[in-house]
Amino acid sequence: MFRIATKVNKRHGSVRLLNTSTIKEGWEAVIGIEVHAQINTKTKLFSDSSTSYNDLINTHVSSFDAAFPGVQPRLNDHAVELAVKTALALQGQVQKRSTFDRKHYFYPDLPQGYQITQQREPIARGGYISLTENDGAIKPLKVGIHQLQLEQDTGKSFHDMRPGETLLDLNRAGTGLMEIVTMPDLRSSFEAGLLVKKLQNILQWVGSSKANLEEGSMRCDVNVSVNRVGEGFGTRCELKNLNRVRILSMAIDAEIKRQINVIENGGKISVETRRYDEDKDITFKLRDKENAPDYRYMPEPDLPPLIISKNYIDKIASTLSELPDQCLDRIMSQYELNISNANLLLHEYKCLDFFEEASKIVCFGRNHKAVANWTLNELSGTLASKNISFQENPISVERFGSLIDLVQGGTITGKTGKDVIKLMIDSKSNPLDIVKEKGWLRITDKAQLRLLCDELIKKSPEKAKAVQNGDSKLFKWFIGRVMGRTKGMADPNTLNQALSNAFGWNSYDEMMETVDNKNKKSL
Ligand code: ADP
Ligand code: MG
Repeated sequence: MFRIATKVNKRHGSVRLLNTSTIKEGWEAVIGIEVHAQINTKTKLFSDSSTSYNDLINTHVSSFDAAFPGVQPRLNDHAVELAVKTALALQGQVQKRSTFDRKHYFYPDLPQGYQITQQREPIARGGYISLTENDGAIKPLKVGIHQLQLEQDTGKSFHDMRPGETLLDLNRAGTGLMEIVTMPDLRSSFEAGLLVKKLQNILQWVGSSKANLEEGSMRCDVNVSVNRVGEGFGTRCELKNLNRVRILSMAIDAEIKRQINVIENGGKISVETRRYDEDKDITFKLRDKENAPDYRYMPEPDLPPLIISKNYIDKIASTLSELPDQCLDRIMSQYELNISNANLLLHEYKCLDFFEEASKIVCFGRNHKAVANWTLNELSGTLASKNISFQENPISVERFGSLIDLVQGGTITGKTGKDVIKLMIDSKSNPLDIVKEKGWLRITDKAQLRLLCDELIKKSPEKAKAVQNGDSKLFKWFIGRVMGRTKGMADPNTLNQALSNAFGWNSYDEMMETVDNKNKKSL
């Protein structure tokens, strides 16, 4: 059976899938995915209220969102632009004409009693997502896109805050979603996982959605069927709400196992909507075909058809000069990055722009590898440890660049640089100001270090004598003490020289020679 292992890289919030899956001999699985991605607009799809729903509950609810009678929808231009951009990035065909429909159902988090969607004529059809070796695919695979449609999100219900009552937050109600449906072109949980990650990548890269599974700005339903090798596709079941790549893979494996089991025992698969129980590692039935809701679709009378001209599409296409796969190839060769670093830059929302901007300013000592390292390891890691997403990174490109220059130019040590980043996030100050204020400048002034050495020698005459007689261990003791006095800011080479001089040698090398000779004599 399928088995999948995942390695979670918490720091970068990304999951690396490891394929260890094999399907039971004689069987094949078929998988298609429906993704709902929140469109990254400031305001909702048909109203002017803000989409930032982490604010105080029910504060972004216009009379339209609350479904007051007679209030009409007005389509958000920016949402259309981002959907078109996404469709083009997926190589889909943007439709000259698309329409809106009402999908009726009753639920408290849907005040209108219907969702406005694009059931009959979606904004885009066709296209594909390529899975390549760079994505971790074993063999290259093209997964077709069935369609991309615009629709409204619902509000949020809270069932467990007050016993016996359901509380509602309508801040999310009416936020724009793109529903992206793939063709049944996937054959394993592994491929499904890669597809979700790749799509997430594309959406973030286009900027049309934050596509964050954990935050719920991207949500997945999966259709699964099995068939004996050589036979046609089997009957599919839909698995609802799989919002982690790892869970999605596990749920698909559990469902494949269940379906094969049912058929091998003489049973039949019926069309069903199911859910996955993570603890028991099984799927269970939510509803069957007989209980499937009748949504009574009807054309939305308050919205005219959406007409998109060729000019408009061309204009948006011209802003999409480079697609993620091409971008990956380019940054790998341009900045000499390995595949995993290049992927990390591409994966982390807004990270690549930041990196490229910081790399542009070629100052003394700033090289691309150093910028990549400081971006991916130090900055990204520090942000993650403070639970700040890259998008909310408070450090400007200029200040980040100056920090790298301070380290590369030798003004501060690498270790100091890491401490400075932390303070830059908290205080939003300039790195050089922080370094000066904290007294963290690397000390390369030999005379200054010499004074400290002389002072220490005066205080410890016996130890000093031992050094002069060739005790190299005690020489290190002196180095350690002076280092301590400078809080680690002394430049090690300069300090070695200064201390050697303080003991009367002309140089550090001469001191080493003397110590060597004394040691030889005493042998
Ligand atoms: P519905 O409206 O019932 O959800 P869709 O046409 O939207 O149907 O298709 C839903 C998903 O089902 C698509 O992602 C598609 O790829 C997938 N699908 C279709 N046939 C099969 C099958 N035999 N096995 C698995 N998935 C399938
Ligand atoms: Mg569907």
